[in-house]
Amino acid sequence: MTILSVSGAKGAADIAREDAVAFQMTLANSVKLSGKGLHSGRETVVEIYPAPENTGIVFRHGLHMVSGIASNVIDTSRGTTIGFNGFRVLTVEHLMAALRGSGVDNAYVEVVGGETPALDGSAAPYMDAIGSVGLVEQDAERRCFTLTEPICVRRKDSFILAVPASEMSITYVMDYDHPMIGSQTSAYVLGKGDFAKEIAPARTFVLYEEVAGLLDRELAKGGNLDNVIVIWPDRMSSALRFPDELVRHKVMDIVGDLALVGGIVNAEILAVRSGHALNIEFAKQVLRGVGSAKRAPRAREATG
Ligand SMILES: [Zn+2]
Repeated sequence: MTILSVSGAKGAADIAREDAVAFQMTLANSVKLSGKGLHSGRETVVEIYPAPENTGIVFRHGLHMVSGIASNVIDTSRGTTIGFNGFRVLTVEHLMAALRGSGVDNAYVEVVGGETPALDGSAAPYMDAIGSVGLVEQDAERRCFTLTEPICVRRKDSFILAVPASEMSITYVMDYDHPMIGSQTSAYVLGKGDFAKEIAPARTFVLYEEVAGLLDRELAKGGNLDNVIVIWPDRMSSALRFPDELVRHKVMDIVGDLALVGGIVNAEILAVRSGHALNIEFAKQVLRGVGSAKRAPRAREATG
Protein backbone atom coordinates (compact mmCIF):
# COMPACT_ATOMS: atom_id res chain seq x y z
CA MET A 1 0.00 0.00 0.00
CA THR A 2 1.45 3.33 -1.03
CA ILE A 3 0.32 6.26 1.07
CA LEU A 4 2.61 8.91 -0.32
CA SER A 5 4.90 9.88 -3.07
CA VAL A 6 7.77 12.14 -2.17
CA SER A 7 9.56 14.64 -4.32
CA GLY A 8 12.52 16.93 -3.97
CA ALA A 9 14.70 14.99 -1.54
CA LYS A 10 17.93 13.42 -2.71
CA GLY A 11 17.41 9.81 -3.62
CA ALA A 12 13.68 9.99 -3.06
CA ALA A 13 11.02 8.24 -5.09
CA ASP A 14 9.56 9.59 -8.32
CA ILE A 15 7.39 12.67 -8.37
CA ALA A 16 3.68 12.20 -8.92
CA ARG A 17 3.10 15.90 -9.63
CA GLU A 18 3.40 17.96 -12.76
CA ASP A 19 3.35 21.46 -11.29
CA ALA A 20 6.37 23.77 -11.30
CA VAL A 21 9.17 22.61 -9.05
CA ALA A 22 10.02 25.00 -6.24
CA PHE A 23 13.48 25.35 -4.85
CA GLN A 24 14.49 25.30 -1.20
CA MET A 25 14.98 28.60 0.57
CA THR A 26 16.93 29.82 3.56
CA LEU A 27 17.29 33.19 5.26
CA ALA A 28 19.54 35.80 3.67
CA ASN A 29 20.88 36.70 7.11
CA SER A 30 20.39 35.78 10.74
CA VAL A 31 17.67 37.19 13.00
CA LYS A 32 17.41 37.25 16.77
CA LEU A 33 14.33 37.36 19.00
CA SER A 34 14.02 37.18 22.76
CA GLY A 35 11.41 37.13 25.48
CA LYS A 36 9.73 34.90 28.05
CA GLY A 37 8.95 31.30 27.18
CA LEU A 38 5.20 30.70 27.44
CA HIS A 39 5.40 27.51 29.48
CA SER A 40 8.79 27.63 31.22
CA GLY A 41 8.51 31.32 32.10
CA ARG A 42 12.27 31.56 31.48
CA GLU A 43 13.96 34.34 29.55
CA THR A 44 14.66 32.81 26.16
CA VAL A 45 16.53 33.80 23.01
CA VAL A 46 16.36 32.33 19.52
CA GLU A 47 18.77 33.25 16.77
CA ILE A 48 17.79 31.90 13.36
CA TYR A 49 20.68 31.39 10.91
CA PRO A 50 20.84 30.45 7.23
CA ALA A 51 21.59 26.76 6.62
CA PRO A 52 22.67 24.72 3.57
CA GLU A 53 20.33 22.77 1.29
CA ASN A 54 18.61 19.73 2.80
CA THR A 55 19.47 20.76 6.38
CA GLY A 56 15.82 21.24 7.33
CA ILE A 57 15.14 23.14 10.54
CA VAL A 58 17.70 22.24 13.21
CA PHE A 59 17.48 23.53 16.78
CA ARG A 60 20.75 23.68 18.68
CA HIS A 61 22.45 25.00 21.77
CA GLY A 62 26.19 24.54 22.20
CA LEU A 63 26.99 20.99 21.17
CA HIS A 64 23.35 19.86 21.50
CA MET A 65 21.10 19.69 18.49
CA VAL A 66 17.73 18.30 17.49
CA SER A 67 16.05 18.31 14.09
CA GLY A 68 12.60 19.83 13.77
CA ILE A 69 11.06 16.53 12.73
CA ALA A 70 7.92 14.90 14.14
CA SER A 71 9.81 11.80 15.24
CA ASN A 72 11.72 14.05 17.68
CA VAL A 73 8.54 15.34 19.36
CA ILE A 74 8.64 14.26 23.00
CA ASP A 75 5.67 16.14 24.46
CA THR A 76 2.44 17.70 23.20
CA SER A 77 0.94 19.09 26.45
CA ARG A 78 -0.41 22.48 25.34
CA GLY A 79 2.49 22.94 22.94
CA THR A 80 4.91 20.94 20.83
CA THR A 81 8.22 20.03 22.48
CA ILE A 82 11.07 18.43 20.56
CA GLY A 83 14.02 16.74 22.17
CA PHE A 84 16.98 14.47 21.62
CA ASN A 85 19.56 13.09 24.02
CA GLY A 86 18.38 15.23 26.93
CA PHE A 87 18.27 18.47 24.91
CA ARG A 88 14.74 19.81 24.57
CA VAL A 89 13.05 22.84 23.08
CA LEU A 90 9.53 23.70 24.20
CA THR A 91 6.79 25.35 22.13
CA VAL A 92 8.33 25.13 18.66
CA GLU A 93 5.03 25.35 16.74
CA HIS A 94 4.71 29.12 16.24
CA LEU A 95 8.29 29.47 15.06
CA MET A 96 7.85 26.43 12.79
CA ALA A 97 4.65 27.99 11.39
CA ALA A 98 6.50 31.25 10.68
CA LEU A 99 9.33 29.39 8.92
CA ARG A 100 6.89 27.37 6.79
CA GLY A 101 4.65 30.37 6.17
CA SER A 102 7.69 32.41 5.08
CA GLY A 103 8.91 29.63 2.79
CA VAL A 104 12.05 28.79 4.80
CA ASP A 105 13.15 25.18 4.28
CA ASN A 106 16.57 25.30 5.92
CA ALA A 107 17.68 27.09 9.09
CA TYR A 108 19.71 26.61 12.24
CA VAL A 109 17.86 27.87 15.30
CA GLU A 110 20.15 28.60 18.22
CA VAL A 111 18.05 28.40 21.39
CA VAL A 112 18.95 29.81 24.80
CA GLY A 113 16.56 28.96 27.64
CA GLY A 114 15.10 25.73 26.25
CA GLU A 115 11.97 27.30 24.77
CA THR A 116 11.07 29.71 21.99
CA PRO A 117 10.03 33.22 23.13
CA ALA A 118 6.24 33.62 23.35
CA LEU A 119 6.46 37.22 22.04
CA ASP A 120 2.85 38.35 21.49
CA GLY A 121 1.47 34.78 21.41
CA SER A 122 1.37 34.68 17.60
CA ALA A 123 3.76 33.91 14.75
CA ALA A 124 3.74 37.50 13.46
CA PRO A 125 6.93 38.74 15.18
CA TYR A 126 8.81 35.73 13.77
CA MET A 127 7.40 36.38 10.29
CA ASP A 128 8.34 40.07 10.54
CA ALA A 129 11.90 39.23 11.61
CA ILE A 130 12.35 36.70 8.78
CA GLY A 131 10.80 39.13 6.32
CA SER A 132 13.16 41.91 7.39
CA VAL A 133 16.23 39.96 6.17
CA GLY A 134 14.57 38.17 3.25
CA LEU A 135 15.26 34.76 1.75
CA VAL A 136 17.67 33.28 -0.76
CA GLU A 137 16.86 30.46 -3.15
CA GLN A 138 19.03 27.36 -2.95
CA ASP A 139 20.00 24.68 -5.47
CA ALA A 140 17.95 21.74 -4.20
CA GLU A 141 14.26 21.19 -4.86
CA ARG A 142 11.78 21.77 -2.06
CA ARG A 143 10.62 18.59 -0.40
CA CYS A 144 6.93 17.89 -0.97
CA PHE A 145 4.88 14.97 0.27
CA THR A 146 1.94 14.22 -1.97
CA LEU A 147 -0.67 11.83 -0.65
CA THR A 148 -1.74 9.09 -2.99
CA GLU A 149 -4.57 7.94 -0.75
CA PRO A 150 -6.49 9.40 2.19
CA ILE A 151 -5.13 9.41 5.74
CA CYS A 152 -7.33 9.72 8.82
CA VAL A 153 -6.14 9.95 12.41
CA ARG A 154 -8.58 10.25 15.26
CA ARG A 155 -8.62 10.52 19.02
CA LYS A 156 -11.91 10.55 20.93
CA ASP A 157 -14.07 13.21 19.22
CA SER A 158 -11.17 14.81 17.28
CA PHE A 159 -9.90 13.81 13.87
CA ILE A 160 -7.76 14.88 10.94
CA LEU A 161 -8.77 13.63 7.51
CA ALA A 162 -6.42 14.34 4.60
CA VAL A 163 -7.10 13.51 0.97
CA PRO A 164 -4.70 13.78 -1.99
CA ALA A 165 -4.36 17.22 -3.56
CA SER A 166 -1.81 19.22 -5.52
CA GLU A 167 -1.32 21.79 -2.75
CA MET A 168 -1.71 22.07 1.00
CA SER A 169 -5.07 23.35 2.17
CA ILE A 170 -6.36 23.28 5.71
CA THR A 171 -9.89 23.59 7.00
CA TYR A 172 -10.09 23.69 10.77
CA VAL A 173 -13.30 23.24 12.73
CA MET A 174 -13.25 24.18 16.40
CA ASP A 175 -16.19 23.38 18.58
CA TYR A 176 -16.10 24.52 22.20
CA ASP A 177 -18.97 24.25 24.62
CA HIS A 178 -18.23 27.81 25.72
CA PRO A 179 -20.40 30.90 25.30
CA MET A 180 -17.50 33.04 23.98
CA ILE A 181 -16.30 30.47 21.43
CA GLY A 182 -18.83 27.90 20.19
CA SER A 183 -18.25 26.55 16.66
CA GLN A 184 -15.89 28.29 14.27
CA THR A 185 -14.35 27.25 10.96
CA SER A 186 -11.36 28.66 9.11
CA ALA A 187 -9.77 27.60 5.84
CA TYR A 188 -6.38 28.38 4.37
CA VAL A 189 -4.45 27.32 1.28
CA LEU A 190 -0.69 27.47 1.85
CA GLY A 191 1.02 29.67 -0.72
CA LYS A 192 -2.24 31.22 -1.97
CA GLY A 193 -3.36 33.63 0.75
CA ASP A 194 -1.21 36.04 2.71
CA PHE A 195 -0.07 33.91 5.64
CA ALA A 196 1.71 36.89 7.23
CA LYS A 197 -1.47 38.97 7.31
CA GLU A 198 -4.24 36.37 7.60
CA ILE A 199 -2.92 33.61 9.86
CA ALA A 200 0.37 34.54 11.55
CA PRO A 201 -1.06 37.39 13.71
CA ALA A 202 -3.62 35.09 15.37
CA ARG A 203 -2.69 34.71 19.04
CA THR A 204 -2.85 31.75 21.36
CA PHE A 205 -5.63 31.57 23.94
CA VAL A 206 -6.59 29.89 27.17
CA LEU A 207 -9.85 29.47 29.04
CA TYR A 208 -9.74 31.19 32.42
CA GLU A 209 -10.91 28.02 34.17
CA GLU A 210 -7.91 26.13 32.71
CA VAL A 211 -5.28 28.52 34.05
CA ALA A 212 -4.94 27.10 37.58
CA GLY A 213 -4.71 23.53 36.23
CA LEU A 214 -1.97 24.53 33.76
CA LEU A 215 0.06 26.22 36.48
CA ASP A 216 -0.34 23.10 38.68
CA ARG A 217 1.18 21.13 35.79
CA GLU A 218 4.12 23.58 35.52
CA LEU A 219 2.71 24.92 32.23
CA ALA A 220 1.95 28.48 31.11
CA LYS A 221 4.32 29.92 33.74
CA GLY A 222 5.33 32.66 31.28
CA GLY A 223 1.76 33.39 30.20
CA ASN A 224 0.41 36.89 30.71
CA LEU A 225 -2.16 39.17 29.14
CA ASP A 226 0.42 40.37 26.59
CA ASN A 227 1.05 36.93 25.09
CA VAL A 228 -2.20 34.97 25.62
CA ILE A 229 -5.87 35.78 25.10
CA VAL A 230 -7.60 34.76 28.33
CA ILE A 231 -11.25 33.85 27.86
CA TRP A 232 -13.83 34.18 30.63
CA PRO A 233 -17.44 33.01 30.22
CA ASP A 234 -18.51 36.57 29.38
CA ARG A 235 -15.43 38.38 28.04
CA MET A 236 -11.92 38.15 26.65
CA SER A 237 -8.77 39.80 27.99
CA SER A 238 -8.20 41.86 24.84
CA ALA A 239 -9.95 42.91 21.65
CA LEU A 240 -9.54 40.28 18.94
CA ARG A 241 -7.39 40.96 15.87
CA PHE A 242 -9.92 39.04 13.72
CA PRO A 243 -13.49 38.03 14.65
CA ASP A 244 -12.32 34.43 14.16
CA GLU A 245 -8.82 34.87 15.62
CA LEU A 246 -9.06 31.74 17.78
CA VAL A 247 -9.72 29.34 14.91
CA ARG A 248 -7.11 31.10 12.75
CA HIS A 249 -4.64 30.36 15.54
CA LYS A 250 -5.62 26.68 15.32
CA VAL A 251 -4.81 26.77 11.58
CA MET A 252 -1.43 28.32 12.42
CA ASP A 253 -0.73 25.60 14.98
CA ILE A 254 -1.40 22.93 12.33
CA VAL A 255 0.86 24.63 9.79
CA GLY A 256 3.60 24.69 12.45
CA ASP A 257 3.09 21.11 13.59
CA LEU A 258 2.90 19.76 10.02
CA ALA A 259 6.08 21.64 9.12
CA LEU A 260 7.68 18.95 11.31
CA VAL A 261 7.43 16.52 8.38
CA GLY A 262 10.37 18.43 6.92
CA GLY A 263 8.57 19.76 3.85
CA ILE A 264 5.11 20.52 2.52
CA VAL A 265 2.24 18.04 2.76
CA ASN A 266 0.25 18.34 -0.46
CA ALA A 267 -3.20 17.37 0.76
CA GLU A 268 -6.61 18.74 1.45
CA ILE A 269 -6.78 18.56 5.22
CA LEU A 270 -9.89 18.70 7.34
CA ALA A 271 -9.06 19.02 11.04
CA VAL A 272 -11.88 18.82 13.55
CA ARG A 273 -11.04 19.78 17.16
CA SER A 274 -7.46 18.60 16.72
CA GLY A 275 -4.66 19.72 19.01
CA HIS A 276 -0.90 19.26 19.04
CA ALA A 277 -1.07 15.55 19.96
CA LEU A 278 -3.23 14.67 16.97
CA ASN A 279 -1.40 17.06 14.63
CA ILE A 280 1.87 15.33 15.47
CA GLU A 281 0.31 11.87 15.14
CA PHE A 282 -0.75 12.90 11.62
CA ALA A 283 2.74 14.25 10.81
CA LYS A 284 4.27 10.97 12.02
CA GLN A 285 1.89 8.98 9.85
CA VAL A 286 2.95 11.05 6.83
CA LEU A 287 6.60 10.33 7.65
CA ARG A 288 5.86 6.62 8.05
CA GLY A 289 4.16 6.73 4.63
CA VAL A 290 7.29 8.31 3.15
CA GLY A 291 9.31 5.49 4.65
CA SER A 292 7.13 2.88 2.95
CA ALA A 293 7.12 4.87 -0.33
CA LYS A 294 10.91 4.90 -0.26
CA ARG A 295 11.09 1.22 0.52
CA ALA A 296 8.91 0.23 -2.43
CA PRO A 297 9.70 2.53 -5.36
CA ARG A 298 10.06 -0.38 -7.80
CA ALA A 299 6.66 -1.77 -6.93
CA ARG A 300 5.09 1.63 -7.59
CA GLU A 301 6.93 2.05 -10.88
CA ALA A 302 5.78 -1.39 -11.94
CA THR A 303 2.16 -0.58 -11.25
CA GLY A 304 2.34 3.06 -12.38
ZN1 LIG B 1 -0.41 27.90 19.19
